[in-house]
Amino acid sequence: MYSISLNLKDHACLVVGGGTVAARKIDGLLKEGASVTVVAPRAAPGIEALFCEKKILLQLRPYEPGEAAQYCLVFAATNDPEVNRRVFADADQAKVWANVADDPPLCSFHLPSRVERGALTLSIASGGEAPFAVRRLRQLLERRLGPEWAEWMNAATAFRKKLRQRQFSSGESERLFDIFFETTVDENKLQSRVPTEAEVEAWLMREFDEQNTPGDAVAAPDAKSRPPGFVSLVGGGPGDPGLLTVKGRDRLMRADAVVCDRLAQGVIPCDLPVDVSIHFVGKTAGNHPMPQEEINAMLVRLAKMGKRVVRLKGGDPYVFGRGGEEVSALAEAGIPFEVVPGITAAVAVPAYAGIPVTFRKEAVRVTLITAHEAAKSGGPQIRFDLLAEDPHAVLLGYMGVTNLEHVMRSLLTNGMRPDMPAAIIEQGTTAMQRAVYGTVETIFAKAQEAKIGSPALFVVGPTAAHADTLNWFEGRPLSGQRLVAFHVTPELRETLFLDGAEILCLPNPLSPAARLVMDALPLTGAVFLNAEEVDCLEEERGRGSWVKSPVAWCLSEAAVKRARSLGWPQIHRVQGTDPGLLVHLMRETISGQNLSQNE
Ligand code: SAH
Repeated sequence: MYSISLNLKDHACLVVGGGTVAARKIDGLLKEGASVTVVAPRAAPGIEALFCEKKILLQLRPYEPGEAAQYCLVFAATNDPEVNRRVFADADQAKVWANVADDPPLCSFHLPSRVERGALTLSIASGGEAPFAVRRLRQLLERRLGPEWAEWMNAATAFRKKLRQRQFSSGESERLFDIFFETTVDENKLQSRVPTEAEVEAWLMREFDEQNTPGDAVAAPDAKSRPPGFVSLVGGGPGDPGLLTVKGRDRLMRADAVVCDRLAQGVIPCDLPVDVSIHFVGKTAGNHPMPQEEINAMLVRLAKMGKRVVRLKGGDPYVFGRGGEEVSALAEAGIPFEVVPGITAAVAVPAYAGIPVTFRKEAVRVTLITAHEAAKSGGPQIRFDLLAEDPHAVLLGYMGVTNLEHVMRSLLTNGMRPDMPAAIIEQGTTAMQRAVYGTVETIFAKAQEAKIGSPALFVVGPTAAHADTLNWFEGRPLSGQRLVAFHVTPELRETLFLDGAEILCLPNPLSPAARLVMDALPLTGAVFLNAEEVDCLEEERGRGSWVKSPVAWCLSEAAVKRARSLGWPQIHRVQGTDPGLLVHLMRETISGQNLSQNE
């Protein structure tokens, strides 16, 4: 189905039928200024009233074969299937667009469901295939999109006019549109605000000054009054939320804006204040990541607005993280910044897979490489000859999933002993960690067999053999469990943690930060104290982050009832509030199940 919006002003449209469905179609057409003819043996009083007000033509008679051909758009909404079919056949033959209510095969077009806020229209459609899904989505958006969007749309239109008048180039206009959007739209809450006239003037002035002021020779009129922005480039660690540094957390909690990558999504504190704006620049399903230049420009722009910005990246920002490029852009724009290092994957991920990266007498050198470089044309920058030769070194490879075979083969052909221990670890340090062990010769095939995907880190070196005895993280009773809860006592947290489960403590009501964290990796279940908590999570259950059959662990009968009525696929009741009992039940239930979390 090809979606378009039609300008129906003064176009001849036919509605066959005089009931309530027909009346709805007539209203919709009149709203768009169409010239409407209604044909029906009888018409509801509302339709007759429209005729009396001379808003429509009404012909109280049966439909005559062939007449649909004279219109450009036709609706049939009678309760006689034969008539509906006739209307559609006539229209179809004359290549006139036709729609028979509630009969998808007899439709050459469908009407989308719409959410309207002034001039802003959101259309939702499923090609007639899933009306229930469309209805739910519309209801959701109706609830979420406040009335302020109508005003916002007007402001956006007026803003565009202003840009036109001042004849900004298209690049400058783009930049200004970005400012308009970023400073007025809360992407996570789906809320907007209308900027003041003065604010808009200030943006335009600033842009104008930047174009016209060479260097700092003449300061912009408002340059002095603007507070200076500041950027903290923060490493979020490898994925376990507990591995974010104290300083990193401090910077996040005091930020005005956070610009966050996909790899760091899961470590944002769930209790991040709700007024911190989060700009997610990572890849999401169906969305490309933002190009590096745009991220650089965004950091500069946010800082120039005087904001305290946190640029949050996975692992350490300077280890294969392009952090250097980002602060170079800041330095060039004269924006003050600091770097808060993070725990890089090469140090943390092997540790969680039972591999010490150095070991006395065994490994006295550690090399970090990016496998991305390994297969580049024009000669790889990696010296495989040097890497392959040293038996007392450990090699840690980032971005290695696609080039794993190439790297292993290069090490072998350069003389590495084939039985050199190796491992590859996916989603290391998180509840979804999966490690595969082998040798430099076998690890590629084993990784393929286990369907290891990105992000994964590989390890080649003698110390990888220690995993046999030092693997402490995977294989605990609740390993692989990523749970959410609204109230977590310290005892429960401690018990779950010792058993290997990850638990996210959510604020009630849910915050944008908490939603992002939930979405970062699959969730396997939720712990509920009462029915209200079950309700609070209900809107989030439609999101993609849940495993196929998540478990509601309920600590009260009321919670059980609500979870049952809302269709939770698995519900378990814990008798009493003792964390020991909950964990005991989880152990029993889970050990009996074959968990396929990643599906
Ligand atoms: N700056 C990051 C690395 C970014 S490059 C750091 O210091 O860790 C992205 C690569 O990092 C991934 O392709 C993967 O090889 C590795 N990586 C990051 N987090 C990981 C994790 N939790 N488990 C396994 N590999 C990870």
